[in-house]
Amino acid sequence: MKIAVPQIDPLTNILPEEPLLMMGAGPVPIPQAVANANSIVINHLGKSMKKVVHQIKSMGGYIFQTDTPWIVGVAGPGSAAMEMAVANLVWKDTSVLSICNGFFSSRLAQMAERSGGIVKKVDVGEKNSVVAQDIRDQVEKLRPTVITLVQGETSNTTYNHQLVEIGKIAKEFNCYLIVDAVCTLSTMPLKMDEWNIDAVITGGQKGLSSIPGVSLVAFSERAWDRLNSRSDQIPQWTLDAKLASNFWHKNSYHYTAPVSGLLALHEAMRLICEETLPVRFRRHLTCSKALQNAITTLGLELYIQEENRLNSVIGISLPTNMDSKTVCEHISNKYRVEIAGSFGSPIVRIGQMGEQCRVHNLFRTIHAFGSTFNDLSFKLDVPAGMAELENSLQRINL
Ligand SMILES: *Cc1c(COP(=O)(O)O)cnc(C)c1O
Repeated sequence: MKIAVPQIDPLTNILPEEPLLMMGAGPVPIPQAVANANSIVINHLGKSMKKVVHQIKSMGGYIFQTDTPWIVGVAGPGSAAMEMAVANLVWKDTSVLSICNGFFSSRLAQMAERSGGIVKKVDVGEKNSVVAQDIRDQVEKLRPTVITLVQGETSNTTYNHQLVEIGKIAKEFNCYLIVDAVCTLSTMPLKMDEWNIDAVITGGQKGLSSIPGVSLVAFSERAWDRLNSRSDQIPQWTLDAKLASNFWHKNSYHYTAPVSGLLALHEAMRLICEETLPVRFRRHLTCSKALQNAITTLGLELYIQEENRLNSVIGISLPTNMDSKTVCEHISNKYRVEIAGSFGSPIVRIGQMGEQCRVHNLFRTIHAFGSTFNDLSFKLDVPAGMAELENSLQRINL
Protein backbone atom coordinates (compact mmCIF):
# COMPACT_ATOMS: atom_id res chain seq x y z
CA MET A 1 0.00 0.00 0.00
CA LYS A 2 1.20 3.41 -0.88
CA ILE A 3 0.49 6.35 1.38
CA ALA A 4 0.32 9.52 -0.67
CA VAL A 5 1.85 12.88 0.18
CA PRO A 6 -0.94 14.87 1.90
CA GLN A 7 -2.16 18.19 0.54
CA ILE A 8 -0.99 20.77 3.07
CA ASP A 9 -1.96 24.41 3.34
CA PRO A 10 1.01 26.55 4.39
CA LEU A 11 0.54 28.42 7.65
CA THR A 12 0.28 31.68 5.74
CA ASN A 13 -3.03 30.34 4.35
CA ILE A 14 -4.30 29.15 7.70
CA LEU A 15 -3.41 32.08 9.92
CA PRO A 16 -5.50 35.24 9.59
CA GLU A 17 -3.91 38.09 7.67
CA GLU A 18 -4.22 40.42 10.58
CA PRO A 19 -3.00 38.73 13.76
CA LEU A 20 -5.67 38.18 16.36
CA LEU A 21 -5.47 40.25 19.51
CA MET A 22 -5.44 37.58 22.20
CA MET A 23 -7.69 38.97 24.94
CA GLY A 24 -9.09 35.66 26.20
CA ALA A 25 -8.20 33.59 29.26
CA GLY A 26 -4.79 32.61 27.82
CA PRO A 27 -2.61 32.24 25.87
CA VAL A 28 -1.90 35.97 25.98
CA PRO A 29 0.18 38.16 23.64
CA ILE A 30 3.93 37.88 24.15
CA PRO A 31 6.51 40.68 24.05
CA GLN A 32 8.85 40.71 21.04
CA ALA A 33 11.84 39.75 23.21
CA VAL A 34 9.98 36.60 24.25
CA ALA A 35 9.10 35.75 20.64
CA ASN A 36 12.70 36.28 19.55
CA ALA A 37 14.08 34.07 22.31
CA ASN A 38 11.58 31.37 21.40
CA SER A 39 13.12 31.07 17.94
CA ILE A 40 16.53 29.97 19.27
CA VAL A 41 17.78 26.45 19.94
CA ILE A 42 20.94 25.86 21.98
CA ASN A 43 22.60 22.95 23.78
CA HIS A 44 20.33 21.97 26.66
CA LEU A 45 23.31 21.15 28.89
CA GLY A 46 25.80 23.76 27.72
CA LYS A 47 27.29 26.69 29.57
CA SER A 48 24.75 29.20 28.26
CA MET A 49 21.83 27.05 29.36
CA LYS A 50 23.38 26.65 32.80
CA LYS A 51 23.44 30.42 33.18
CA VAL A 52 19.88 30.76 31.83
CA VAL A 53 18.58 28.17 34.31
CA HIS A 54 20.43 29.86 37.15
CA GLN A 55 18.86 33.20 36.24
CA ILE A 56 15.36 31.72 35.84
CA LYS A 57 15.67 30.40 39.40
CA SER A 58 16.89 33.76 40.75
CA MET A 59 14.11 35.64 38.98
CA GLY A 60 11.67 32.97 40.19
CA GLY A 61 12.73 33.72 43.75
CA TYR A 62 11.68 37.33 43.25
CA ILE A 63 8.49 36.62 41.33
CA PHE A 64 7.33 33.88 43.75
CA GLN A 65 8.71 35.92 46.70
CA THR A 66 10.66 33.03 48.15
CA ASP A 67 14.12 32.08 49.33
CA THR A 68 13.65 28.45 48.44
CA PRO A 69 16.28 26.93 46.16
CA TRP A 70 13.70 24.35 45.02
CA ILE A 71 12.32 25.95 41.88
CA VAL A 72 11.93 23.45 39.06
CA GLY A 73 10.46 23.63 35.60
CA VAL A 74 8.48 21.21 33.50
CA ALA A 75 8.08 20.86 29.75
CA GLY A 76 4.33 20.94 29.77
CA PRO A 77 1.21 23.03 30.32
CA GLY A 78 0.13 24.59 33.60
CA SER A 79 -1.64 21.29 34.27
CA ALA A 80 1.70 19.45 34.19
CA ALA A 81 3.00 21.85 36.83
CA MET A 82 -0.18 21.22 38.86
CA GLU A 83 0.42 17.50 38.60
CA MET A 84 4.09 17.89 39.45
CA ALA A 85 3.18 19.71 42.67
CA VAL A 86 0.39 17.30 43.60
CA ALA A 87 1.92 13.95 42.59
CA ASN A 88 5.20 14.63 44.38
CA LEU A 89 3.50 15.56 47.65
CA VAL A 90 0.48 13.24 47.61
CA TRP A 91 0.64 9.44 47.58
CA LYS A 92 -1.36 6.46 48.76
CA ASP A 93 -3.61 7.41 51.67
CA THR A 94 -2.32 11.00 52.01
CA SER A 95 -5.15 13.00 53.48
CA VAL A 96 -5.94 15.98 51.23
CA LEU A 97 -8.36 18.84 51.66
CA SER A 98 -9.18 20.39 48.28
CA ILE A 99 -10.86 23.78 48.26
CA CYS A 100 -12.99 23.85 45.11
CA ASN A 101 -14.40 26.99 43.47
CA GLY A 102 -14.67 25.64 39.96
CA PHE A 103 -12.95 23.86 37.10
CA PHE A 104 -9.24 24.26 37.90
CA SER A 105 -9.44 23.84 41.65
CA SER A 106 -11.46 20.66 41.02
CA ARG A 107 -8.71 19.49 38.67
CA LEU A 108 -6.28 19.69 41.60
CA ALA A 109 -8.65 17.46 43.59
CA GLN A 110 -8.82 14.96 40.72
CA MET A 111 -5.05 14.85 40.51
CA ALA A 112 -4.79 14.27 44.27
CA GLU A 113 -7.26 11.39 43.94
CA ARG A 114 -5.32 9.85 41.07
CA SER A 115 -2.18 10.07 43.17
CA GLY A 116 -3.82 7.85 45.76
CA GLY A 117 -4.81 10.56 48.21
CA ILE A 118 -7.92 10.42 50.35
CA VAL A 119 -9.49 13.65 49.18
CA LYS A 120 -12.11 15.71 50.90
CA LYS A 121 -13.50 18.34 48.56
CA VAL A 122 -14.78 21.53 50.14
CA ASP A 123 -17.11 22.97 47.54
CA VAL A 124 -17.42 26.69 48.18
CA GLY A 125 -19.84 27.08 45.30
CA GLU A 126 -19.49 29.05 42.11
CA LYS A 127 -19.12 32.82 42.53
CA ASN A 128 -17.92 32.48 46.14
CA SER A 129 -14.46 32.72 47.56
CA VAL A 130 -13.39 30.46 50.34
CA VAL A 131 -13.98 31.62 53.92
CA ALA A 132 -10.96 30.84 56.09
CA GLN A 133 -13.04 30.07 59.19
CA ASP A 134 -14.86 27.29 57.32
CA ILE A 135 -11.51 25.80 56.37
CA ARG A 136 -10.29 26.00 59.97
CA ASP A 137 -13.30 23.95 61.06
CA GLN A 138 -12.65 21.36 58.37
CA VAL A 139 -8.93 21.18 59.10
CA GLU A 140 -9.55 20.73 62.84
CA LYS A 141 -11.90 17.88 62.07
CA LEU A 142 -9.95 16.14 59.29
CA ARG A 143 -6.32 16.99 60.06
CA PRO A 144 -5.29 16.79 56.39
CA THR A 145 -1.64 16.51 55.35
CA VAL A 146 -2.10 18.58 52.20
CA ILE A 147 -4.41 21.49 51.31
CA THR A 148 -4.95 22.53 47.67
CA LEU A 149 -6.53 25.66 46.25
CA VAL A 150 -6.34 28.19 43.43
CA GLN A 151 -5.54 31.85 44.01
CA GLY A 152 -7.67 32.85 41.03
CA GLU A 153 -10.26 30.48 39.54
CA THR A 154 -9.93 31.42 35.88
CA SER A 155 -12.93 29.32 34.84
CA ASN A 156 -15.58 31.48 36.51
CA THR A 157 -13.41 34.45 37.59
CA THR A 158 -13.63 34.10 41.37
CA TYR A 159 -10.72 35.11 43.56
CA ASN A 160 -9.74 33.52 46.88
CA HIS A 161 -8.84 36.67 48.78
CA GLN A 162 -8.31 34.88 52.11
CA LEU A 163 -5.21 33.03 50.97
CA VAL A 164 -3.12 34.67 53.72
CA GLU A 165 -5.49 33.33 56.39
CA ILE A 166 -5.50 29.87 54.79
CA GLY A 167 -1.69 29.93 54.91
CA LYS A 168 -1.82 30.67 58.66
CA ILE A 169 -4.18 27.75 59.22
CA ALA A 170 -1.94 25.45 57.15
CA LYS A 171 1.04 26.45 59.28
CA GLU A 172 -0.80 26.06 62.57
CA PHE A 173 -1.93 22.54 61.66
CA ASN A 174 1.31 21.58 59.93
CA CYS A 175 -0.32 21.04 56.51
CA TYR A 176 1.43 21.38 53.16
CA LEU A 177 -0.30 24.14 51.21
CA ILE A 178 -0.38 23.84 47.39
CA VAL A 179 -1.48 26.98 45.53
CA ASP A 180 -2.27 27.20 41.83
CA ALA A 181 -1.22 30.68 40.68
CA VAL A 182 -1.26 29.99 36.93
CA CYS A 183 -3.34 33.02 36.01
CA THR A 184 -2.41 35.25 38.92
CA LEU A 185 1.37 35.08 39.37
CA SER A 186 2.92 38.48 38.65
CA THR A 187 -0.53 40.05 38.14
CA MET A 188 -1.30 40.47 41.86
CA PRO A 189 0.55 39.94 45.15
CA LEU A 190 1.58 36.43 46.17
CA LYS A 191 4.24 35.98 48.84
CA MET A 192 5.17 32.34 48.99
CA ASP A 193 7.37 32.43 52.09
CA GLU A 194 5.50 35.05 54.09
CA TRP A 195 2.18 33.34 53.39
CA ASN A 196 3.46 29.84 54.31
CA ILE A 197 2.86 28.30 50.91
CA ASP A 198 4.62 24.97 50.23
CA ALA A 199 4.14 24.67 46.48
CA VAL A 200 3.28 27.42 44.00
CA ILE A 201 2.27 26.43 40.49
CA THR A 202 2.48 28.59 37.41
CA GLY A 203 2.22 28.23 33.63
CA GLY A 204 3.85 30.27 30.89
CA GLN A 205 0.98 31.62 28.85
CA LYS A 206 -0.99 33.64 31.39
CA GLY A 207 0.30 36.02 34.06
CA LEU A 208 3.90 35.68 32.93
CA SER A 209 3.11 36.52 29.28
CA SER A 210 5.38 33.82 27.89
CA ILE A 211 4.56 30.94 25.55
CA PRO A 212 2.40 27.95 26.55
CA GLY A 213 4.12 24.63 27.23
CA VAL A 214 6.81 25.53 29.75
CA SER A 215 5.83 25.83 33.41
CA LEU A 216 7.36 26.26 36.86
CA VAL A 217 6.79 24.95 40.36
CA ALA A 218 8.39 26.34 43.51
CA PHE A 219 8.56 23.96 46.49
CA SER A 220 9.30 25.16 50.04
CA GLU A 221 12.20 23.55 51.95
CA ARG A 222 9.79 21.47 54.01
CA ALA A 223 7.86 20.37 50.92
CA TRP A 224 11.14 19.36 49.34
CA ASP A 225 12.07 17.37 52.47
CA ARG A 226 8.74 15.57 52.23
CA LEU A 227 9.04 14.60 48.58
CA ASN A 228 12.73 13.80 48.97
CA SER A 229 12.19 11.42 51.84
CA ARG A 230 9.11 9.57 50.58
CA SER A 231 9.63 5.83 50.61
CA ASP A 232 7.86 5.00 47.34
CA GLN A 233 8.48 6.48 43.89
CA ILE A 234 6.19 8.88 42.09
CA PRO A 235 4.67 6.93 39.16
CA GLN A 236 5.13 9.75 36.63
CA TRP A 237 8.80 9.62 35.68
CA THR A 238 8.86 12.94 33.81
CA LEU A 239 7.13 14.77 36.69
CA ASP A 240 9.47 13.44 39.38
CA ALA A 241 10.76 16.59 41.09
CA LYS A 242 13.88 14.78 42.34
CA LEU A 243 14.78 13.79 38.78
CA ALA A 244 13.92 17.27 37.51
CA SER A 245 16.39 18.59 40.04
CA ASN A 246 19.16 16.86 38.06
CA PHE A 247 18.58 19.44 35.36
CA TRP A 248 17.51 22.37 37.52
CA HIS A 249 20.24 22.10 40.15
CA LYS A 250 23.01 19.91 38.75
CA ASN A 251 23.15 20.91 35.10
CA SER A 252 22.70 17.30 34.08
CA TYR A 253 20.26 15.23 32.07
CA HIS A 254 16.69 14.43 33.05
CA TYR A 255 15.01 14.78 29.68
CA THR A 256 15.90 17.20 26.89
CA ALA A 257 14.80 20.52 28.28
CA PRO A 258 12.50 22.72 26.14
CA VAL A 259 15.39 25.08 25.43
CA SER A 260 13.53 27.60 23.26
CA GLY A 261 10.66 27.76 25.72
CA LEU A 262 13.08 28.30 28.60
CA LEU A 263 14.78 31.12 26.73
CA ALA A 264 11.35 32.65 26.14
CA LEU A 265 10.46 32.24 29.81
CA HIS A 266 13.75 33.83 30.78
CA GLU A 267 12.90 36.91 28.74
CA ALA A 268 9.35 37.10 30.09
CA MET A 269 10.69 36.92 33.64
CA ARG A 270 13.44 39.42 32.91
CA LEU A 271 10.83 41.90 31.72
CA ILE A 272 8.86 41.35 34.94
CA CYS A 273 11.98 42.05 37.02
CA GLU A 274 12.72 45.11 34.93
CA GLU A 275 9.18 46.43 35.46
CA THR A 276 9.24 45.38 39.16
CA LEU A 277 6.31 43.67 40.86
CA PRO A 278 4.71 46.74 42.51
CA VAL A 279 4.58 48.61 39.18
CA ARG A 280 3.29 45.52 37.40
CA PHE A 281 0.56 44.91 39.99
CA ARG A 282 -0.55 48.54 39.68
CA ARG A 283 -0.67 48.30 35.88
CA HIS A 284 -2.82 45.18 36.11
CA LEU A 285 -5.18 46.66 38.68
CA THR A 286 -5.59 49.95 36.82
CA CYS A 287 -6.26 48.29 33.47
CA SER A 288 -8.59 45.64 34.86
CA LYS A 289 -10.67 48.10 36.91
CA ALA A 290 -10.93 50.52 33.97
CA LEU A 291 -12.05 47.68 31.72
CA GLN A 292 -14.62 46.53 34.29
CA ASN A 293 -16.02 50.07 34.58
CA ALA A 294 -16.19 50.38 30.80
CA ILE A 295 -18.05 47.06 30.51
CA THR A 296 -20.72 48.04 33.03
CA THR A 297 -21.04 51.44 31.36
CA LEU A 298 -21.64 49.70 28.03
CA GLY A 299 -24.67 48.21 29.76
CA LEU A 300 -23.55 44.70 30.77
CA GLU A 301 -23.12 43.07 34.18
CA LEU A 302 -20.04 41.48 35.68
CA TYR A 303 -20.52 37.89 36.84
CA ILE A 304 -18.86 38.07 40.26
CA GLN A 305 -19.51 40.49 43.14
CA GLU A 306 -16.64 42.92 43.61
CA GLU A 307 -15.30 41.38 46.84
CA ASN A 308 -14.82 37.93 45.30
CA ARG A 309 -13.94 39.11 41.81
CA LEU A 310 -10.73 38.14 40.09
CA ASN A 311 -9.05 41.02 38.26
CA SER A 312 -6.74 38.86 36.12
CA VAL A 313 -9.67 37.50 34.10
CA ILE A 314 -13.01 39.32 33.93
CA GLY A 315 -16.26 37.35 33.66
CA ILE A 316 -19.14 39.14 31.94
CA SER A 317 -22.71 37.87 32.27
CA LEU A 318 -24.43 37.30 28.95
CA PRO A 319 -27.92 38.66 28.34
CA THR A 320 -30.49 35.85 28.09
CA ASN A 321 -30.78 34.48 24.58
CA MET A 322 -27.14 35.18 23.81
CA ASP A 323 -24.59 32.43 23.85
CA SER A 324 -20.87 32.73 24.28
CA LYS A 325 -20.02 30.91 21.06
CA THR A 326 -21.84 33.46 18.89
CA VAL A 327 -20.24 36.40 20.70
CA CYS A 328 -16.72 34.94 20.60
CA GLU A 329 -16.95 34.00 16.92
CA HIS A 330 -18.31 37.37 15.88
CA ILE A 331 -15.73 39.45 17.74
CA SER A 332 -12.97 37.24 16.36
CA ASN A 333 -14.14 37.18 12.75
CA LYS A 334 -15.18 40.80 12.44
CA TYR A 335 -12.84 42.63 14.82
CA ARG A 336 -9.91 40.21 15.10
CA VAL A 337 -10.13 40.21 18.87
CA GLU A 338 -10.17 36.88 20.68
CA ILE A 339 -12.08 36.55 23.92
CA ALA A 340 -13.09 33.37 25.75
CA GLY A 341 -16.28 31.52 26.51
CA SER A 342 -16.43 29.39 29.61
CA PHE A 343 -16.87 25.84 30.88
CA GLY A 344 -20.59 26.05 31.46
CA SER A 345 -21.06 29.39 33.24
CA PRO A 346 -23.28 31.83 31.25
CA ILE A 347 -20.41 34.24 30.65
CA VAL A 348 -17.69 35.40 28.30
CA ARG A 349 -14.26 36.17 29.69
CA ILE A 350 -11.73 38.88 28.92
CA GLY A 351 -8.20 38.42 30.23
CA GLN A 352 -6.10 41.03 31.99
CA MET A 353 -2.80 39.21 32.24
CA GLY A 354 0.62 40.49 31.21
CA GLU A 355 0.59 42.12 27.78
CA GLN A 356 -3.22 42.19 27.76
CA CYS A 357 -2.98 45.06 30.24
CA ARG A 358 -1.91 47.72 27.77
CA VAL A 359 -4.06 50.80 27.22
CA HIS A 360 -4.21 50.45 23.42
CA ASN A 361 -5.41 46.85 23.78
CA LEU A 362 -8.15 47.96 26.16
CA PHE A 363 -9.55 50.53 23.73
CA ARG A 364 -9.56 48.10 20.84
CA THR A 365 -11.18 45.44 23.01
CA ILE A 366 -13.98 47.64 24.40
CA HIS A 367 -14.76 48.97 20.94
CA ALA A 368 -14.86 45.47 19.44
CA PHE A 369 -16.78 44.02 22.37
CA GLY A 370 -19.48 46.69 22.45
CA SER A 371 -19.81 46.74 18.67
CA THR A 372 -20.20 42.97 18.61
CA PHE A 373 -23.30 43.16 20.80
CA ASN A 374 -24.70 45.95 18.64
CA ASP A 375 -24.06 43.88 15.50
CA LEU A 376 -25.93 41.02 17.17
CA SER A 377 -28.85 43.39 17.86
CA PHE A 378 -28.31 43.77 21.58
CA LYS A 379 -27.92 47.52 21.96
CA LEU A 380 -25.01 48.74 24.06
CA ASP A 381 -23.71 52.28 24.50
CA VAL A 382 -20.29 52.02 22.88
CA PRO A 383 -19.39 55.74 23.00
CA ALA A 384 -20.22 55.83 26.72
CA GLY A 385 -18.12 52.69 27.30
CA MET A 386 -15.15 54.15 25.43
CA ALA A 387 -15.45 57.41 27.37
CA GLU A 388 -15.68 55.56 30.69
CA LEU A 389 -12.55 53.60 29.81
CA GLU A 390 -10.63 56.83 29.26
CA ASN A 391 -12.12 58.48 32.34
CA SER A 392 -11.36 55.47 34.52
CA LEU A 393 -7.77 55.29 33.32
CA GLN A 394 -7.32 58.94 34.20
CA ARG A 395 -9.21 58.70 37.48
CA ILE A 396 -7.84 55.46 38.92
CA ASN A 397 -4.51 56.82 39.91
CA LEU A 398 -3.71 53.75 41.93
C1 LIG B 1 -5.08 27.90 32.68
C2 LIG B 1 -5.06 27.42 34.09
C3 LIG B 1 -4.61 26.14 34.39
C4 LIG B 1 -4.22 25.12 33.35
O1 LIG B 1 -3.20 25.54 32.54
P1 LIG B 1 -2.95 24.72 31.18
O2 LIG B 1 -1.71 25.36 30.64
O3 LIG B 1 -4.16 24.92 30.34
O4 LIG B 1 -2.76 23.31 31.55
C5 LIG B 1 -4.60 25.77 35.72
N1 LIG B 1 -5.00 26.59 36.68
C6 LIG B 1 -5.43 27.83 36.44
C7 LIG B 1 -5.85 28.71 37.56
C8 LIG B 1 -5.48 28.29 35.12
O5 LIG B 1 -5.90 29.53 34.87
